Amino acid sequence: MLDRFGTGLKDAVKKLAGKSVIDKAAVDELVRDLQRVLIQSDVNVKLVMELTTTIKKRSLEEEPPKGMGAREHVLRIVYEELVHLMGEEVDVRLESQTILMAGLQGSGKTTTTGKLARYFQRKGLRVGVICADVFRPGAYDQLTTLCQKVNVPCYGEPGETDAVGIVTRGMEELAGTEVLIIDTQGRHALEDELIEEIIALNELSSATHRWLVIDAALGQQAREQARRFHEAIDIDGVIITKMDGTAKGGGALSAVAETGSGIVFVGSGETIEDLERFDPDGFISRLLGMGDLRALIERAEEAISPEDVDVNAMLKGKFTLRDMYKQLEALKKMGPLKQVMGMLPLGNVDLPQDAFDVTSVKMDRFKYIMDSMTSEELDNPGVISGSRIQRISMGSGTSPDEVRELIKYYKTMQRTLKTMRGGQGKFNMQRMMKKFGG
Ligand code: GDP
Repeated sequence: MLDRFGTGLKDAVKKLAGKSVIDKAAVDELVRDLQRVLIQSDVNVKLVMELTTTIKKRSLEEEPPKGMGAREHVLRIVYEELVHLMGEEVDVRLESQTILMAGLQGSGKTTTTGKLARYFQRKGLRVGVICADVFRPGAYDQLTTLCQKVNVPCYGEPGETDAVGIVTRGMEELAGTEVLIIDTQGRHALEDELIEEIIALNELSSATHRWLVIDAALGQQAREQARRFHEAIDIDGVIITKMDGTAKGGGALSAVAETGSGIVFVGSGETIEDLERFDPDGFISRLLGMGDLRALIERAEEAISPEDVDVNAMLKGKFTLRDMYKQLEALKKMGPLKQVMGMLPLGNVDLPQDAFDVTSVKMDRFKYIMDSMTSEELDNPGVISGSRIQRISMGSGTSPDEVRELIKYYKTMQRTLKTMRGGQGKFNMQRMMKKFGG
């Protein structure tokens, strides 16, 4: 079901899950990938742009909730927005109601009418069906055959061309039913007569629901169909048929957006039982393979091995440039320090913001600088001053200012760690170090 759409989405988010750094570039790339997949799947371009703009804005502006990594945060936003794209969750009430079926010929309207009759009948409701499709000659026979299979009464007048008359009489005939489903005519194209007729049937039947049937394989025309029907009779739910085929499905989603409603059911085959209620959350989770994703995120987190940094030594107050070197190595795999710090529960620690704004380019330069230091300097950074700074900058091809910046960075880190030790008990140091890269 929606194979290509699902694979494309999964690939896009997998790429994100595998990224070492979740920065603006990574989000931009994700957004471009999503746009491509959605447009290829026939989702309307305007809708795609709205969706991806929201994903980008939220990803870059919203702070991840405490304890959630940047990667997981962005994936959650993608998930939420895709669920939103599926429309509202539509409530199907098991009570007396009249349902008017709308859709063009071939959409699967008659088949779906039979499936719905079966659905409500199984729920214990008395169901009746009226065939008001006066356009397609075979419609009445098709519907009576379907209804007979499940013992549901079906009213129709083969040969009669006045749909309003048929429905008037049908409603009298089926007066005792709880759920009345009216199958209407569907022409090949949207014509004024068709629209006028369905408006009349809607008024006549005082329909509780007006559901639009859309073929999953329908492309951009789906949007226009939805718009016309919605303007005419205020569509309050969409049924997507032929989801068992290898359809793109995006056109139907545009129809959903156009009506501002949601997907009520999906048709998944030709038999009367092949109708499923639609659950937006479950559907998107399956499409994205959320289980797979979780594993991927965990793997990315494991790339930072706890053995790299001696947490205990650091807890005792020993934090040398060697430790920082290891941390930078680990952090390079994880993302900018600022972001990593943002994930920590450090509400009680005052962090100098710019000190943590270390880009990966800068991290590399810091490493070159440290590569030019002696063991003594790495273990005991206090000895680094004037002439040593000159020597180190020349050896590493950097400027003395950069060496000073590294030292300043180191001191800030050291101070922060001290503050953290002071605040022990307020948060979990071990967990923090794990996130920190240790
Ligand atoms: P109508 O003109 O809208 O009433 O369309 P029909 O109900 O006659 O359906 C048109 C064709 O689509 C028929 O061959 C149906 O068997 C088929 N069809 C309808 N719904 C589904 C579905 O969910 N899956 C599949 N595979 N075929 C379907």
